Amino acid sequence: MLILIADAFDASLPKRLAQFGEVTDDMARLQDATVLLVRSKTKVNKELVDQAPALKLVIRGGVGMDNVDKNLCAEKGIKAVNTPRASSVAVAEMAMAFLVAIPARLIEAHTSMKEGKFLKSELKRTELFKKTLGLIGAGAIASEVAKRAQAFGMEVIAYDPFLKEHSIAKLVSLEDLAAKADFISMHTPLTDETRGMVNADLLAKMKDGVIIVNTGRGKCVAEADLAAALASGKVRAYGTDVWPSDPPPADCPLLTAPNVFMAPHIGASSKENLGRIGDEVVAILTDFKA
Ligand code: NAD
Repeated sequence: MLILIADAFDASLPKRLAQFGEVTDDMARLQDATVLLVRSKTKVNKELVDQAPALKLVIRGGVGMDNVDKNLCAEKGIKAVNTPRASSVAVAEMAMAFLVAIPARLIEAHTSMKEGKFLKSELKRTELFKKTLGLIGAGAIASEVAKRAQAFGMEVIAYDPFLKEHSIAKLVSLEDLAAKADFISMHTPLTDETRGMVNADLLAKMKDGVIIVNTGRGKCVAEADLAAALASGKVRAYGTDVWPSDPPPADCPLLTAPNVFMAPHIGASSKENLGRIGDEVVAILTDFKA
């Protein structure tokens, strides 16, 4: 069986997978591949599947499956799975990094000092202690964020219509979350319901000066609406690891809006997480019968 590794995985993975068959990263061999390993870069769509007649299993190393056409895979008898739990801590730490660094003014402090400025009186900080964190989506990653936010003395509320209860966060309506949260952290998958859910209507219901962090999916925000809310100061800052595409188009309004703090989709890219994803891939292949 041929295992084709299309995207970036832990460097030790090819050696670990050799027990299951031949391992390659040569995309020219797609037509012979039984197993295809992708992360978020490779799109498993009709064009790719048409070129892979031997394909039986797609493994998406990571969480979101929006780059894998699951219906098409099901139609063609191709099993499509992900590694749902490996990335939770890595992404939660990324969200916390934004939640700590933005109100601490750490990024502006660093950048201005590099420019030779000493903005001691200008850079006023705010604390997380006793503030309210609103989680949109309260699944695995959000739950890790909730634990960490609690340790900072934050009150944690969450909107997740698919949950009846949560061990840390108080579940509230989206409107209540918007009205109460000083900080909002976004953790939903991209679906028809979540696409553009942070739009002008919801932004208008938020507290003035709210800080929004997004490590979920870039398309869950209506970019032009959010850029306008940042320009007016309604939203104090937006910290994002995720974009409408990787990389975002040059005319993405969030690239030029004020107080946007950016990362190039590296939330899941910790060294430790790549190792855990590798462990889950090995477990999946151990159970797989071609
Ligand atoms: P999860 O499935 O454990 O949690 C997602 C939660 O979102 C679920 O509890 C679900 O009920 C909730 N949800 C679904 N639709 C909703 C809606 N309309 N409104 C509110 N809540 C809704 O998944 P997870 O492991 O916590 O991952 C969450 C998302 O984070 C992924 O889908 C992916 O898009 C993103 N992610 C990003 C990175 C990164 O590198 N930045 C890495 C991994 C995952």
